[in-house]
Amino acid sequence: MNNNKKKQDKKLWIILSILIVIAIIMAIVLFFVLKNKDKKDDTTLAYTDLIKEISYGNIEKVEMTVGSTSIKVKIKNQEEEKSAIVPDTESFISLIQEKVAEGNEIELIQNPKSFIAQLGATIVSFLPTLIMVALFIMIYKMQGLGDKGKVYDETERKMTIKFDDVAGLEEEKQEMIEIVDFLKRPEKFAKMGARVPRGVLLNGKPGTGKTLIAKAIAGEANVPFISMSGSEFIEMFAGLGASRVRKLFDKARKLAPCIVFIDEIDAIGSRRTTNSGAESENNQTLNQLLVEMDGFSSEETIIVLAATNRPEMLDKALLRAGRFDRQITIPTPDLKGRLEILKIHSKEKKLSDEINLESIAEDTAGYTGAELANILNEAAIIATINKHDEIENADIEEAVKKVTVGLEKRTRKYSEKDKRLTAYHEAGHAVVSRYLPTQTDVKEISIIPRGVAGGYTMYKSDDDKYYISKTEMKEKLIALLGGRAAEKLVLDDISTGASNDIEVATQIARDMVTKYGMSDTLGPIDFQGKEPYEMQMFGENIGDKIGNEVKALIDEAYKNAINMLKEHRDKLDLIAETLIKQEKINEAQFNEMFEK
Ligand code: ADP
Ligand code: MG
Ligand code: ZN
Repeated sequence: MNNNKKKQDKKLWIILSILIVIAIIMAIVLFFVLKNKDKKDDTTLAYTDLIKEISYGNIEKVEMTVGSTSIKVKIKNQEEEKSAIVPDTESFISLIQEKVAEGNEIELIQNPKSFIAQLGATIVSFLPTLIMVALFIMIYKMQGLGDKGKVYDETERKMTIKFDDVAGLEEEKQEMIEIVDFLKRPEKFAKMGARVPRGVLLNGKPGTGKTLIAKAIAGEANVPFISMSGSEFIEMFAGLGASRVRKLFDKARKLAPCIVFIDEIDAIGSRRTTNSGAESENNQTLNQLLVEMDGFSSEETIIVLAATNRPEMLDKALLRAGRFDRQITIPTPDLKGRLEILKIHSKEKKLSDEINLESIAEDTAGYTGAELANILNEAAIIATINKHDEIENADIEEAVKKVTVGLEKRTRKYSEKDKRLTAYHEAGHAVVSRYLPTQTDVKEISIIPRGVAGGYTMYKSDDDKYYISKTEMKEKLIALLGGRAAEKLVLDDISTGASNDIEVATQIARDMVTKYGMSDTLGPIDFQGKEPYEMQMFGENIGDKIGNEVKALIDEAYKNAINMLKEHRDKLDLIAETLIKQEKINEAQFNEMFEK
């Protein structure tokens, strides 16, 4: 959706909300005004007494206002007029008229409605209509009937991104060439009787370039690119998800040959359940998607690309033949890939000659394309702030930290107690890592807050590795728990500062047991993403057993961390004290402390 459109939508929403709020406030105010008018006071006559007085023939004058149940009566031989409330004005009027017909002299005055009451009644009667109209407009807009579907998807007729803009991923691009070919010359494939994939699922971490490569396919084939994101459906009204999917594909059929890109497909395509509510709504959306994909005729040249970083969550039905039967994993870039990504994204930036992209690529193992692009962009911003003529190495280093740990926050106030705690926590990580053979060297330790972290220990980047051994994972757990262990050992108290370490450690331990088959008791079995009935075949208490194994790994790592820190207590104290004094320790300084 384009920006203008977004702004317009926003305006409309604001106007609608204001209208509704005004109407409600007016209704409430009027309600009280009218209610107060009807309020009883000393001169109020109870209805039963009123009827009595009427039957005795004591009433001289009745004054009423149309639309109000409050009336005024003048009783014979009484100075003051009294007020009364009549539950049913019409039957009351006929009662009076009866009495008049019987010969009683009653003066009946019927005043027209007061202005306020009239206005109030008008607004109150208008309110439901107003709300209905507002709701209708909202639904109308959400369904995208308003302007031919532009509300929910972004169509780019001329995609200018080409394969050349996608660095690395050579094999993946090779696989895509076939699809480009099909989009360009579908008749060639039809003549041959070839079955071309309808759907291709791109698996990969966020920022690895899935959207980029999907756009590049459209760009190479020179076809429209229609996209939407699965997460947009989550907050939908009932039935709208499915209808959006239908509209998306209606549009695709009109524009074919084209690419339909569904980002975050796991948001709609996760396993179907039998539950009600939001989940069954999800089911409807997913079912519609399946129906649409099955309904392609062979003349329709539409390729559906979908992206996810949680392929194990997807409903199996999505992966069947004729649907997303081809899966391509987009990995985080290797050294060569990273270098190429850095080259592409530094093309338009002014880099100083001292900058060596190769060494940046070496230092950024595990970083995604998006992170690398971001680092170069941040470096350009930092260089500008620092009034450098070109981007220098220092700017890049600062950018790496900014992208990975967040911005330095020197303004945050730190109590002496917090400072000591953070110093020991980070020193704990660093000391433990130093004595673990598989862990990488420490590059920098800091207790200056950055982003959400109170402090950080940065490690030198690892070489690109395809496999990680069990020993390495166990040592990683020790390194992660080193911070918490130091807090416990030295301060005999623990803090919330270790929460992220604990989260990561737990995830690693769980993967070791359920994904990589590293538990001796449970063996090499994949327990991840299994349905409950699939789990049952491993025995009744399999959940408990997995939990015990995960806990055993964590407990062992924590005990090891404590023992290592006890053994090297002198180093722990030295590093913590140095941190308290100077806030930062660099690689050379750190190594020196261990050489003495
Ligand atoms: P994903 O869809 O996998 O989350 P994106 O395709 O949105 O990732 O990537 C975000 C940005 O990161 C891209 O717009 C691009 O600038 C950069 N990027 C990611 N991977 C690559 C790559 N292989 N080559 C060049 N740039 C990349
Ligand atoms: Mg994306
Ligand atoms: Zn930590």
